[in-house]
Amino acid sequence: MTDSPTSQSSSNVAPVEENSRVVAIDGPAGTGKSTLSKMLAAQVGAHYLDTGAMYRAATLAVLDADVSLEDSRGIEAAVADATIELVPTADGRSRVYLDGVDVSGPIRTDRVTDAVSAVSAVPAVRTKLVALQRMHAEGAFVVVEGRDIGTVVFPDADVKIFLTASPQARAQRRHQQNLGAGRDSDFDAVLASVNRRDHLDSTRAVSPLRAAPDAVVVDTSDLSIDEVLSTLTALVNDRIGVQR
Ligand code: C5P
Repeated sequence: MTDSPTSQSSSNVAPVEENSRVVAIDGPAGTGKSTLSKMLAAQVGAHYLDTGAMYRAATLAVLDADVSLEDSRGIEAAVADATIELVPTADGRSRVYLDGVDVSGPIRTDRVTDAVSAVSAVPAVRTKLVALQRMHAEGAFVVVEGRDIGTVVFPDADVKIFLTASPQARAQRRHQQNLGAGRDSDFDAVLASVNRRDHLDSTRAVSPLRAAPDAVVVDTSDLSIDEVLSTLTALVNDRIGVQR
């Protein structure tokens, strides 16, 4: 009568999802992904997991260690030494900590945004963060936002959504977000940065940005946040049921 639990020490094994309910939301920058993921999580009573914040915190660790972005071994070592934590807050958002320090603000600076694609392309960085992401979802109901959630992190997610929008619409959203947050912003520079990051993210060798074959693709270019939100909420309620 040996009913031994399987221990999973390698990140190459398929994730255990039996006790979890996962909504995977992938897509490029500026599709409204973060706003929608947070709102959707609040609507359906799930936790919100921002995996981009983890890659951004890892990038800050690399920049703080003065490692060149060409030096993948140096990146690997800097991230291996870093403690990255995502802590949910009462308002349904989350704060990200690097070595015990709240870096939720600093991870949004251009310095980090411009370097994050290089850091997130390093396989060991992904292995470390994917393990952390799977741990967060264990036994939980989560809306997980990223680039490879439906393809790699949770290939058996209950619902997979891929958000897209035209480059112009995406850059316009980022530009407005910057201005709204009181940051300097130049539309053409934002457009170039969005295009560059998406190109790097979708052409990297490991876990490129890509829609899973079974994802529902939603083009948000000409839709309001409320219109997209009601589509997503209906999808989740249909597949998982209302969780309250
Ligand atoms: O979502 P956000 O724009 O904050 O993500 C920042 C970067 O983190 C992306 O451009 C991408 O390089 C990386 N990322 C990733 N895989 C994820 C989430 C983010 O490679 N699941």
